[in-house]
Amino acid sequence: MSVESLFPRLEALLPKVQKPIQYVGGELNSTVKDWDEATVRWALMYPDAYEVGLPNQGVQILYEILNELPETMAERTYAVWPDLEALMRSEGVPQFTVDAHRPVRAFDVLGVSFSTELGYTNLLTALDLAGIPLDAVARTDDDPIVLAGGHAAFNPEPIADFLDAAVLGDGEQIAIAISEVIREWKGEGAPGGRDELLMRLASTGGVYVPKFYDVEYHPDGRIKRVAPNRSGVPSRVFKHTVMDLDEWPYPKKPLVPLAETVHERFSVEIFRGCTRGCRFCQAGMITRPVRERSITTIGDMVEAGLKESGFSEVGLLSLSSADHSEIGEVAKGLADRYEGTQTGLSLPSTRVDAFNIDLANEFSRNGRRSGLTFAPEGGSERMRKVINKMVTEEDLIRTVTTAYSQGWRQVKLYFMCGLPTEEDIDVLGIADLAKKVIKAGREATGSRDVRCTVSIGGFVPKPHTPFQWAAQCDHETVDRRLRELRNSLRGDKEYGKAIGYRYHDGKPSIVEGLLSRGDRRVGSVIRAVWEDGGRFDGWSEHFSYERWMTAAERVFSGGSVDVDWYTTREREEHEVLPWDHLDAGLDREWLWQDWQDAVSDVEVEDCRWTPCYDCGVCPTMGTEIQIGPTGKKLLPLTVV
Ligand code: SF4
Repeated sequence: MSVESLFPRLEALLPKVQKPIQYVGGELNSTVKDWDEATVRWALMYPDAYEVGLPNQGVQILYEILNELPETMAERTYAVWPDLEALMRSEGVPQFTVDAHRPVRAFDVLGVSFSTELGYTNLLTALDLAGIPLDAVARTDDDPIVLAGGHAAFNPEPIADFLDAAVLGDGEQIAIAISEVIREWKGEGAPGGRDELLMRLASTGGVYVPKFYDVEYHPDGRIKRVAPNRSGVPSRVFKHTVMDLDEWPYPKKPLVPLAETVHERFSVEIFRGCTRGCRFCQAGMITRPVRERSITTIGDMVEAGLKESGFSEVGLLSLSSADHSEIGEVAKGLADRYEGTQTGLSLPSTRVDAFNIDLANEFSRNGRRSGLTFAPEGGSERMRKVINKMVTEEDLIRTVTTAYSQGWRQVKLYFMCGLPTEEDIDVLGIADLAKKVIKAGREATGSRDVRCTVSIGGFVPKPHTPFQWAAQCDHETVDRRLRELRNSLRGDKEYGKAIGYRYHDGKPSIVEGLLSRGDRRVGSVIRAVWEDGGRFDGWSEHFSYERWMTAAERVFSGGSVDVDWYTTREREEHEVLPWDHLDAGLDREWLWQDWQDAVSDVEVEDCRWTPCYDCGVCPTMGTEIQIGPTGKKLLPLTVV
């Protein structure tokens, strides 16, 4: 049965809201398929505003792959701003897709990609606006399967009550596999309703269905065990890993936004995974092993993507792009190919070594020379050993000296505050480092026209990392250290004016910590915050720490857990963690040993270049590291 477009009803509301263009769809490379010709229909959501959600690579890739399947269609939906939400409620307009403005509730699957936990309240808004019951157990056969993916889905327990299912890892193959299961089940006349469909998905071992697992607690609040509550459901759920990125050269037709978005460029992922072993980095741990895309596929994707989109900037994405085995050739090949054009190339440059400067020079050949960014992360040598970020002060000074002497005038340095074992002196070390950077820059250039911006983020311990057992630093300590750092920078007459300082206060990190390492009991806090008006928690102008703390106090009152219990409490080695039944491939004993090594300042190498140190991913997942070099070159498309 056809589903009517909501656009005529939505259109009447658009003159009354900010940035109405974000809701109209029709972007270049967007796809609208015939509703009746599809058997499996996905609504893909990025739970933030259009300007943040549209550029999201994960959603764009799945959107394209699913729409390429003959009997499957996919449309997109984003979080609506509170002004439109209020009007939709008063006028009875439900959550809609931007592609054909179809009601989200009419789809078979609502797939939500969570890069961060701060999108959880936006999920509840979308469900409520869509008319889908918030509680998964209250849904009927007329409701879509609400499925979570993305990095936050590696611990979906805080939103377990609101989800029908979650998938871990790379989405390309599992999205197709899920579509196939739904197509077959529908073809058989949907026997057993949504319960049987969920059972079919769960029994594959690659889809987590929270309601098929019971959680038992000790009287002191710790988890006693998590176990399947029906036969045929596996006790562990595994992540998905795409092994040959060259077989999945998506996006081929990048979406070109109509409204302003946070990134306006064509991004190509040059490899997936990272083995540098930074202990704070969840993305690095959960995306192992490293799998490179070949230089020729990268070249083909850039060529096709620019042609299809008209973008004039290409970003080469990965967790540590300079580590690609042929990055020098990729940079030179692309810079040669686009010499004399207005095509800019960018690399999220974070590794601190001179090679990066050569790369940056290559990348800026055809475009602007913006600032260079390095991420030493820790302010002292000791701190960097704890987090396994092997950068010495010497490396950093040598690299920035090269950058300044080659004409760069602005260097950005990224650090974290609140790291395990951190003391005041480690944070004040950031000021010393920044002053040395300016001093070196002035000496190298003979000019005072050099700048350095210090940017600080609050550290949040994440699941599936060696710091998953660590106590999170309380926000009072983080704020005090950041104040002292600011005073040290501002009070310096010689260098203070040349150093910019950007930081956030420590409170949002506590909420992120609660949501990152929370269990199912945290779901009631999320719901209470949402009922109290919580929306867009990733936006400082919407975020309210007080709202979260008030809700948590109410929900946890009289029980054995509270916000501190979830955040600033260190866990014992054998405590059952809420995500222990969700397998990212990492060996728990290896993670624990790495945590012990961290507190003893022992570093581990990168297994990309050194022998395997048995983190467990390759044998558990049946995967392997895949790197070049291929020895191939990128030929220019036209003779320049
Ligand atoms: S199993 Fe070995 S080779 Fe594979 S990612 Fe872990 S340390 Fe590296």
